[in-house]
Amino acid sequence: MANSYLYKMDALAAKKYTNRFTDQFPGDLSGVLTPRHTQGVLYSLVEPTAVKEPKLIAWSEALARELEIAFPEKEDVEILAGNRIAPSMLPFAQCYGGHQFGRWAGQLGDGRAIGLGEWTTDSGSWEFQLKGAGPTPYSRGADGRAVLRSSVREYLASEAMYHLGVPTTRALSLVSTGEAVLRDMFYDGNPAYEPGAVILRTAPSFLRFGTFEILMARGETDLLSQLTHWTIETYFEELRGQDQVLRWFQEVMHRTISLMVEWERVGFVHGVMNTDNMSVLGLTMDYGPFSFLDNYDPNFTPNTTDLPGRRYAFGKQYEIAHWNLIRFATSLLPIIDDPEPFEDILNGYARELQLQRSQMWCRKLGLEVKQLNDDLLQSLEKMLVRAQPDYTLFFRKLVELPIDNTSAESLIGHFTPAFYQIPQSQDQEIFINWMLHYQKIRSAKDVSEAKRTKLMNQANPFFIPRNYLLHQAIEGLENND
Ligand code: AMP
Ligand code: MG
Repeated sequence: MANSYLYKMDALAAKKYTNRFTDQFPGDLSGVLTPRHTQGVLYSLVEPTAVKEPKLIAWSEALARELEIAFPEKEDVEILAGNRIAPSMLPFAQCYGGHQFGRWAGQLGDGRAIGLGEWTTDSGSWEFQLKGAGPTPYSRGADGRAVLRSSVREYLASEAMYHLGVPTTRALSLVSTGEAVLRDMFYDGNPAYEPGAVILRTAPSFLRFGTFEILMARGETDLLSQLTHWTIETYFEELRGQDQVLRWFQEVMHRTISLMVEWERVGFVHGVMNTDNMSVLGLTMDYGPFSFLDNYDPNFTPNTTDLPGRRYAFGKQYEIAHWNLIRFATSLLPIIDDPEPFEDILNGYARELQLQRSQMWCRKLGLEVKQLNDDLLQSLEKMLVRAQPDYTLFFRKLVELPIDNTSAESLIGHFTPAFYQIPQSQDQEIFINWMLHYQKIRSAKDVSEAKRTKLMNQANPFFIPRNYLLHQAIEGLENND
């Protein structure tokens, strides 16, 4: 990096870390790794388990610069692998619960993630978390390890999401461990060894809906109250004051809706929207079987274990987020006097969603708010389902669409690169009709073409980390490329 001398850069191993969460709350300090329920505490102290041969594979220079972190020397790579702990780090695994696939699953917790402490700069503080650094009391019989395949996916996708403008946890580094991990990749009873890896991911906080739910479930009301107020005072400073819990809940709903809208904008399907994977900061977190859409299909789910019900399909994410927010509000009931205003907020979900969604769609379609009516949006969704273009390519082609391009032939010609299959007969008719309708609306606009093009290009991704690209990266890495 040519200009690194311009920045103040700290080494991972030499930094003074803070540990506000573990300082503040009761934890299980025994260090015992046996899987168990840990009543009355929010975390267990736990040492990462060292790996054989750590090797740095990827380093996010963009994030490192933002956090003023120097490129890792050998002892820093040891930290990134969990083989070494800086003196001021206090490694811990968080205890949380969650609703999984619609049912209360009880205690879950960080089974393959270990928090290290907070990295603080003038611009804020960031929790560091290793994913794949060995078992914790919450590993429930699993190994606490992560495979290279899933680690590469999280590393690349979370950085891609950030650069596409979507709130997300981020990944600083990817380290291969030199150890093999046994995994049943296709869940078909044929486990095989795969190379292991550890990523260091970071966010201001990894608190989840499930962190609050477990306290409600265990009846630990004092701790629930302390955690809630601490979360507000630490991460939502601007909300401090009267009725802060209510206003915080409203803010969590606001951020959750805006995250769902952003997922729709870029065609992201999370795949496991269990409440333990829902960030109270409104970040995309816990990248598992996620996928970006290829052809437009609201029923698409990348999660093979979700296939019968398609609970976490692309088109269901808004509904599920609402369901999850109800679980979250329910977990706060023991510490609030009057549930009614919470219900009122939840009842406003559809209204706020509509507002945020129409703003997003204006950006995606290059229209002004007054030009976008429900009819255009609903007919767009119907058209996309029938024509099934590639979601990403379609909108980039829409940016370049001349508004006087009105013959069926030339419209189809323009969008041909965005189709896996050219729509035929009635589907084609629906497609053409929508295009004519849209062009008419767009042509009546005051904004200059240059400005519209710029806005649309900003809203519509050009590059997305498609599954096959991630797969190619993984195959290359596994073959030492
Ligand atoms: P996820 O579906 O990845 O959000 O994980 C659900 C729960 O299972 C979390 O509590 C994880 O920590 C835990 N878990 C997932 N994979 C592992 C693993 N390899 N070892 C231990 N715990 C795991
Ligand atoms: Mg999870």
